[in-house]
Amino acid sequence: MSKFADYNFAGQKAIVRVDFNVPLNDKYEITDDNRIRAAIPTIKKIISDGGSVILMSHLGRPKDGPTEKYSLKHLIGRLQELLGGVTVSFAGDCIGKEAEEAAKKLPPRGVLLLENLRFHKEEEKGNEPFAEALAKLGDVYVNDAFGTAHRAHASTAIIAKFFPAGKKMFGLLMEAEIVSAEKVLHHSEKPFVAIIGGAKVSDKILIIENLLERATDIIIGGGMAYTFMKAAGGKIGKSLCEEDRLDTATELIKKAAAKGVRIHLPSDSLIADKFAADADTSMSPSNHIPDGWMGLDIGPNACEQFSNVIMHSKTILWNGPMGVFEMEKFQHGTRIIATAVAKATQKGSFSLVGGGDSVAAVNQFGFADKVSYVSTGGGAMLEYFEGKVLPGIAAIKS
Ligand code: AMP
Repeated sequence: MSKFADYNFAGQKAIVRVDFNVPLNDKYEITDDNRIRAAIPTIKKIISDGGSVILMSHLGRPKDGPTEKYSLKHLIGRLQELLGGVTVSFAGDCIGKEAEEAAKKLPPRGVLLLENLRFHKEEEKGNEPFAEALAKLGDVYVNDAFGTAHRAHASTAIIAKFFPAGKKMFGLLMEAEIVSAEKVLHHSEKPFVAIIGGAKVSDKILIIENLLERATDIIIGGGMAYTFMKAAGGKIGKSLCEEDRLDTATELIKKAAAKGVRIHLPSDSLIADKFAADADTSMSPSNHIPDGWMGLDIGPNACEQFSNVIMHSKTILWNGPMGVFEMEKFQHGTRIIATAVAKATQKGSFSLVGGGDSVAAVNQFGFADKVSYVSTGGGAMLEYFEGKVLPGIAAIKS
């Protein structure tokens, strides 16, 4: 593979897999353009070298071929704006005659956007002839779609085999994601704390298991903490609990003890009499929650306990909120943890926030630029931290 930053794209047509899977409203207006913004540095570098750019992406989950709602043509205007007025041409199909002619006609410094890859079922099936048809459009393959790197789709993985080693590479966004993730997983300075929150233990078992090999401390917050509390003999009222994961929780605690990894559970909780914004609330030790009440956020002692651990850590990985942060009443714990992560970062620790809801929380509370790295790749980042090989990374490295 080549290194993107060192590659000279002059006179080359680069076919770039981006993640333009942005939310659109009923009028096909983009309601959050962060994913497009994230790809702009990669596109600009190719243009400034004198190369041309062919962009391919998926949008949504179209079931039956071309659908107006999922057309990438709705993105042209915003893309042109974000590129500072560069004209973007569009091909109504990502393969075939129209795409081939548009690619051929593309002048140096030109940008062509292809229609939604998922209008062809072959994309998600990782179909080889389809990948080859895409590959034909460019001289160089750039993957800048970290968010889909855990899928062995035609445009994210299979296509790479149609380019020689020196003509395939990661884009700037994808490289930054990989460098940050590798730093945490393989080159972490100790102490290394993983903060794991969110709703379900079942979603996070693999990540906790893999982190038991690497972290010094694991903080468990959010709804999943109560399954651990109950497994340890605590009373959790009607808090979230996965009865079928009680044994798993006990096993994880045992494994951590055997490996000398400290597991931190919230000593107290903000409890509520119902799952609602207007619920009555009270504080309780997390292992003594009264019947009829549920823990919806970590309590003040837990905030202090967790903040201390975070402040003493050199590497911090955060995935999942500490409580039901979508409701104002239950967002204090998540906000305090975000504050501690920001403070530790300011003191020189490396912090990575990855996975959907903690990223949303960090953005919502205005902490995104106060941590070392905020990952854009929810599911892909999670799988990376589970220790899985991501097909989109392997395809370029091999
Ligand atoms: P996840 O997608 O697994 O990271 O879970 C995120 C979701 O967990 C968010 O929607 C939170 O509202 C929810 N959550 C966090 N803490 C709790 C809790 N104590 N009880 C119920 N849901 C929670």
